[in-house]
Amino acid sequence: MAISSQPLVGLVGWRGMVGSVLMDRMTAERDFDLIEPLFFSTSNAGGAAPAQARNETTLRDAHDLDELKRCEVIVSCQGGDYTSEVFPKLRAAGWNGHWIDAASTLRMKDDAVIILDPVNLPVIRNALARGARNWIGGNCTVSCMLMGVGALYKAGLVEWMSTMTYQAASGGGAQHMRELLTQFGTLNAEVKALLGDPKSAILEIDRKVIAKQRSLTADETANFGVPLGGSLIPWIDKDLGIGKGRDEPGWGVSREEWKGMAETNKILGQGEGFGTPAVPVDGFCVRVGAMRCHSQALTFKLNKDVPVADVEAMIAADNDWVKVVPNTREATLEHLTPVAVTGTMTIPVGRIRKLAMGPEYLGAFTIGDQLLWGAAEPLRRMLRILLEA
Ligand code: NAP
Repeated sequence: MAISSQPLVGLVGWRGMVGSVLMDRMTAERDFDLIEPLFFSTSNAGGAAPAQARNETTLRDAHDLDELKRCEVIVSCQGGDYTSEVFPKLRAAGWNGHWIDAASTLRMKDDAVIILDPVNLPVIRNALARGARNWIGGNCTVSCMLMGVGALYKAGLVEWMSTMTYQAASGGGAQHMRELLTQFGTLNAEVKALLGDPKSAILEIDRKVIAKQRSLTADETANFGVPLGGSLIPWIDKDLGIGKGRDEPGWGVSREEWKGMAETNKILGQGEGFGTPAVPVDGFCVRVGAMRCHSQALTFKLNKDVPVADVEAMIAADNDWVKVVPNTREATLEHLTPVAVTGTMTIPVGRIRKLAMGPEYLGAFTIGDQLLWGAAEPLRRMLRILLEA
C-alpha cells in the first residue's frame, strides 16, 4: 500500500544524539518539505515542537497510542526500551503503519528488514512488495563496514571475514563522550605543571598518569565502568558467550561481536531465514578513546586470487560515498583517521593489500561516522523510499 502525499510522520527521539543528526540531515535534504511531521517526547509532552514543525506545533506524548496511531510512518531514535514497550502495544492496537527504528530491539525479528539501501535495496524492495512494515537501522559498525566493502560481498568473493574494530566513545551516547573528555581533562590536569616543563622526566609523568587512571572514582567512570581516556576496552555490550561450551565458536562472544555475522548476513539477504549459507564473520570489538567514528581492520579470505587493482576498482564503484584511499603513509594519515572522517558522509577504505598468508588473503581498513551511515542516514533514506514507492 502506497502512503499518501504529505503523510503524517511521527518523530520520536529527535533530540537525542542520533535524532539530532537525523534532524540535521532531514533538514539538509529537504525531507520535511515532503511530510507533515508530528514530534513526540517522553519527557516534555505539551512543549513546543522544533522549528521543522508545520501545523503540528506541540510535542505529543510518545506513550500516547492514539496520537501515534494517527501517523502513517513513525521514525524512532528513542532507544530499545522505548521500542520494547511501545511497539508491541501499537501493533496490538491495530496500527498498520511503517515503523522505522534506530534501536536494535527488532532487528533480528523475521518480519523486520535491516535497512542500508546502498547495499541492500533489492532486499528492501522485495520486502516492501511482500507488505513489510518494520524497517530497522543496522548496527553502526556493520553498516559502516558494508558501505565500505559491500562490493566484495555483492561479487560473491568473500569466503570469510575477520573484523577488529576500534569504536568511538559516541557509540554509547552523549554521556559516554562527556565522560571520555572529562577523563582526558583530569589526566592532563594531573601532570600539567610537569608537561609545561620541558626538562621534567617522562617516567614521572607516566607514573602520575597511571596512578590517576587507577584511582578514578566510580562517578568518573560511571558510563564505561573503567577508564577509557589513555586506555582501551576490549569488550562492548553484553556477554553472549556464557553457558556455551568453551570449544564452541560462540563461547566468550560479546553481543557487539555477534552482531557482525548475524547482521552482515541479514542485511545482504543471505544465511538463516534466506535458505542460503551465511558468510562467517568474526573478530574482536574494542572501545577506544576516539570521540566519533568507528574504525575497523578487516581480514578477508577471498574465494579466489583477485588483483588488488581489481579489488580497489570494485570497491570504488560500489556507491557514491565510498572512497578508496591509496595504501601510502601520506594518504592514510590524511584521509584514514576518525578526525578526517567525522561529520562527513564519506566512507574511506584504505590499507588495501595482500597479506602474508597467501594471495587470497586481503587486508583493508575502513572508517565511518557511525552517527551518519551508522545510524541516521539509513533511516531518512528509508523514509524517502516509502515516499517514492
Ligand atoms: P540518546 O542521545 O541517549 O537519546 C535518547 C533520548 O534520550 C532522547 O530522544 C531524549 O528523549 C532523551 N534525553 C534525555 N536527556 C537528554 C538530553 N540531555 N539531550 C538529549 N536527549 C535527552 O541516545 P542515542 O545515542 O541517540 O541512541 C538512540 C538509539 O539509537 C538507541 O537505540 C541506540 O542504540 C541507537 N543507535 C545509536 C548509535 C550511536 O552511535 N549512538 C548508532 C546506531 C544506533 P526525550 O526527548 O523524549 O526526552
